[in-house]
Amino acid sequence: TEKFSNKHILIVGLAKSGFAAAKVLKELGAFITVNDKKPFDVNEEAKALAEMGIKVVCGGHPMELLDDHFDFVIKNPGIPYNNPLLIKAMEKGIPILTEIELAYHISKADFIGITGSNGKTTTTTLIFEMLKKGQKNPLIAGNIGTVACEVAKTAEKENIIVTELSSFQLMGIEDFAPKIAVLLNIFDAHLDYHGTKQEYINAKARIFENQTEEDYCVINIDDSDVLRAVEKSVAKKVPFSTTTPVDDGLCIKNQAIYYFNEKIIEIKDIVLPGLHNLENILAAIAVAKLVNVSNTAIIDVLTEFTGVKHRLQYIKTIHGRRFYNDSKATNILATQKAISAFDQPVILLAGGLDRGNEFDELVDELKRVKAMVVYGQTANKLERAGKLAGIEVIKHVNNVEAAVTEAYDLSNDGDIILLSPACASWDQHKTFEERGDIFINAVHKLK
Ligand code: ADP
Repeated sequence: TEKFSNKHILIVGLAKSGFAAAKVLKELGAFITVNDKKPFDVNEEAKALAEMGIKVVCGGHPMELLDDHFDFVIKNPGIPYNNPLLIKAMEKGIPILTEIELAYHISKADFIGITGSNGKTTTTTLIFEMLKKGQKNPLIAGNIGTVACEVAKTAEKENIIVTELSSFQLMGIEDFAPKIAVLLNIFDAHLDYHGTKQEYINAKARIFENQTEEDYCVINIDDSDVLRAVEKSVAKKVPFSTTTPVDDGLCIKNQAIYYFNEKIIEIKDIVLPGLHNLENILAAIAVAKLVNVSNTAIIDVLTEFTGVKHRLQYIKTIHGRRFYNDSKATNILATQKAISAFDQPVILLAGGLDRGNEFDELVDELKRVKAMVVYGQTANKLERAGKLAGIEVIKHVNNVEAAVTEAYDLSNDGDIILLSPACASWDQHKTFEERGDIFINAVHKLK
């Protein structure tokens, strides 16, 4: 904690993470100033902090803030580095950190960090569940659950903090070193923010940069960019692959998962569908084994876990029709994965905010879909893609709720009814969570 106590710190950007960082730093006795774009009168977090006696500057990012001396800036991960205030801070040589660095310094517990372009939340949750079943006292932090520095504040030495890390968070670390680092995959996401592919790979590679030879990194060796990212790592490597047999790591052989040639579980006994989830599962088993979770505990989780809410989440079976909520699929890639996850006939519910995409990339997967129910701004474009794929039954409805009844009417025993919208939800909903909840409720109302 010496790094931050008695220091002068500027927090840029509130929301959950900046708010938590401010409270933690105040308790540490740091001298803090908080700066947020949102005007004070509508800024509940700023008001709460002001009441605690913290200096708050709202409604913009005035350059004069930096007339005062600051040892560090802690920024909300969402704020880009080309923000003029941050540029000026960098010119003045002030380190710009994210709250995960703070969490690391105040924590008595070790960290397990999970990063990658896709699958972070699922893998983080799987690891947390396995460690919980295995009685390893895990705490979960990050996207799901509580902000890392808040979790770290209460953590004891016996705990293990399991946290998902975006590349935005990783760009703001100095000393952060997880005992076990997981790198799942690297796709061309977020290139608008990170610039080149190499810069994005470098950002992901930072999860390894402070690890020692005592630490572990769990890596997807099917992904060449992951291999590039791990090149300089000194940690012990635990590779996993869904395509190639590996003796010194995890792989699939004869329809079962193996860990260093020890059979763990047969694929058919796993509840989570999809090849992409197998990657997440291999990574999670690797971590669980590294912290000595028993095979029984691992198997219990894999035979019970129905998925993180809104991510290809199994809801229920009605007269042989299985319902899945994949409301988090706000882009085409995610919907491709979801459709490919099933061997059975799929009835796809899709639609939402129109970002100008024509959905041509979805046509190949749609060839495996037996019927579509479309709604929202993109209904016509999705119908066009469906027709290109040769789907004969494509129904238009007004919303997700109507789509559920329509899909049920169209369905037969053995079908999968899948909400995987391929679009953001903002044309009709506040969030993808709201959209998924409407789907779940509509399914429960059926009969
Ligand atoms: P993240 O937290 O990284 O956004 P999630 O676990 O929330 O990842 O999954 C989001 C979506 O990404 C899923 O609905 C699925 O479509 C896709 N996905 C999940 N895991 C993987 C993976 N290992 N590889 C590719 N895509 C994945």
